[in-house]
Amino acid sequence: MKITLRILFPLMVGLIVAIIMNITVGWWGFWVIFPWIGFSISTGTLLRKILKGHKKLIGRKIAILMILPCLLLFVPIVNHENFQLGGVVLIVLVGFFGKGFIHYAIAKIFGPLIWGRGFCGWACWTGAILDWLPITGKKKAIPEKAKNLRYISLAISLFIPLYLVFVMNYDVYQDYLYKKEIIWMFAGNALYYAIGIPLAFIYKDKRAFCKLACPVGLIMKVPASVSIIKIKPKQNDCIECGACNKICPMDIDVMSYIKNKKPITNTECILCSSCRIVCPVNAI
Ligand code: SF4
Ligand code: SF4
Ligand code: SF4
Repeated sequence: MKITLRILFPLMVGLIVAIIMNITVGWWGFWVIFPWIGFSISTGTLLRKILKGHKKLIGRKIAILMILPCLLLFVPIVNHENFQLGGVVLIVLVGFFGKGFIHYAIAKIFGPLIWGRGFCGWACWTGAILDWLPITGKKKAIPEKAKNLRYISLAISLFIPLYLVFVMNYDVYQDYLYKKEIIWMFAGNALYYAIGIPLAFIYKDKRAFCKLACPVGLIMKVPASVSIIKIKPKQNDCIECGACNKICPMDIDVMSYIKNKKPITNTECILCSSCRIVCPVNAI
């Protein structure tokens, strides 16, 4: 089997980013994080190439699971930092631009200008657990209006740090940085899982949390609206079988884009490529 450039590309990007980060910021951990993320995505891409039919779908699920310990455990434990949105707002408010800020800048603000919401599809530690939940059967439709709940959770994530700093005079340097950060990181994530897992079972929809409650996805939707990488139609014509709509974890009407020969501009797209894998005529 040939290892193509397409398979190696994520690993190469990971190595390049590690080099850039070490030159500009300088921390040994970057040599672990970015090459590991790249290696994991390359592994997922390789599995997609090797496996046949719908089994290809497992490639991304393995990649996202491989990345989970790197972002959820390695950085917080080694560097005692909180990558949750509230924690990042807290440090930015006092002008401290640590690894949490770098993570947000790369994965959730500037990176999505290139790869859209690829973080959600391939690297999110919450998504990694949700994607492996043993849920089968028909999804319950999530009302469009209910998706606005995400704005409330975004407001809460912004309000709590603002309140702590400006009303409670919380001393971020003294009481939070590298001390209580780790507790906030795990408490915040425990809350995400505690909400996300029941929601997935209630709606029979693994990504219900992403659609209803996650504030981070909302932030990424802004740069993702102009992202360079998009799912696009190929020359082959769509036969309107509907398989892409059925598999899409984010409920996007993929078929209408592809049959009209348009790229998927919906900012809910997490670039999982599941639609591409299941298309019987290679139209995506
Ligand atoms: S929407 Fe939120 S929880 Fe879902 S994958 Fe994206 S960042 Fe993770
Ligand atoms: S449109 Fe395709 S790539 Fe985007 S989320 Fe849906 S299935 Fe995944
Ligand atoms: S899976 Fe392919 S052929 Fe079927 S509706 Fe989607 S784009 Fe068209």
